[in-house]
Amino acid sequence: MRQSQLFTKTRREAPADETAKNAQLLIRAGFVHKEMAGVYSFLPLGLRVLKKIEDIVREEMDAVGGQEIRMATLHPSEPWKQTGAWENVDVLFKIQSRTEKEYALGQSEEEIVTPIAQEYAPSYKDLPVAIYQIGQKYRDELRAKSGIMRGREFGMKDMYSFHTSQEDFEKFYERAKEAYLRVYSRCGLVAKVTEASGGSFSEKLSYEFMVITDAGEDDILYCEACTHCANVEVAKEKEGDSCPKCGKGTLKKAKASEVGNVFDLGQKYARDFGFSYKDAEGKDQLPIMGCYGIGITRLMGVIAETLSDEKGLSWPEAIAPYDVHLLVLTTDDAASVAFADSLYEDLSKKGKKVLYDDRSVRAGEKFADADLIGIPARVIVGKDSVAKGEVELVHRATGQMEKVTKETLLAW
Ligand SMILES: [Zn+2]
Repeated sequence: MRQSQLFTKTRREAPADETAKNAQLLIRAGFVHKEMAGVYSFLPLGLRVLKKIEDIVREEMDAVGGQEIRMATLHPSEPWKQTGAWENVDVLFKIQSRTEKEYALGQSEEEIVTPIAQEYAPSYKDLPVAIYQIGQKYRDELRAKSGIMRGREFGMKDMYSFHTSQEDFEKFYERAKEAYLRVYSRCGLVAKVTEASGGSFSEKLSYEFMVITDAGEDDILYCEACTHCANVEVAKEKEGDSCPKCGKGTLKKAKASEVGNVFDLGQKYARDFGFSYKDAEGKDQLPIMGCYGIGITRLMGVIAETLSDEKGLSWPEAIAPYDVHLLVLTTDDAASVAFADSLYEDLSKKGKKVLYDDRSVRAGEKFADADLIGIPARVIVGKDSVAKGEVELVHRATGQMEKVTKETLLAW
């Protein structure tokens, strides 16, 4: 992509009412456009990142046997009334039609997915089944101040699984947990799993996936020696105590952001919808249900906050909008431009996704924009490049710079 053709532009200042660092950076770099508090449109650069995160999540959910569907986001009110959520979930967006009929905008999909599963799983032979979707969700937040980390409209992957026993659910949960941890590590993050009480949402335990970051809204206690991790709000221990799991490590406190969760829903929704299946003896049984969420836009916001510096964003390779940011500094020199043009074509032919800054602006502006946009590798074509056949390769995350020949670059 030639940057001169990219319709979005960087801007020096974020809107005055935007207080969240993730949204400030993403707006300034031209990744998102703010419509109102908690609602953002995704622009070309932002959409490329979002799609890459979605692809990683999709691959990992498919790998544990999840089957992707696309559920409606405009819901009839009846199933929400049937589960009690119409009255009890305060963030549920309720809409009244001109016909005076009421609807809900999906903030979760148990009310939709349970009747779907019910229709296709009348027998124990049809279970277990795991169904997921990646799509838009809505929450009627009173205040939305965390940028794309907590929106009124947001992107989410939600999976629902149905099982014939608690043991089978727990076995599947373990596999889903490993898949979740792989998602975060592929996105350049280190996540920990906490156990928390499910509150009103579920009957049983819930699990939260937390990324340690100074931008986090939660305080966690984690063990330095093992995988133990707990939310400070529910933990019996405090910082400095010895680990209740392994007894060897001491507990450290840190700020963290939730990037995923799992709820053990037990048989609540099966009961609410009268969803039973026939077991091997032909008796009616209620399935055990689990739900597994990853906020896709939230995850992008956490990455933007966690992997950035005072100059701007810094994307890990796996989710960067482009692999290479190619800068030609001397646009008034025809030989330099020809050299950069050929490099752009050759890198593209090699399968590299290249953002080519071919604009006639001063070098300082190109460097500042490249730092702000945060593509992991920067290739700079300067005055000497043509004569020496060399370019500068700069790594955004470390600032490390090396001179490489065109041949080396193309072989990389
Ligand atoms: Zn421990």
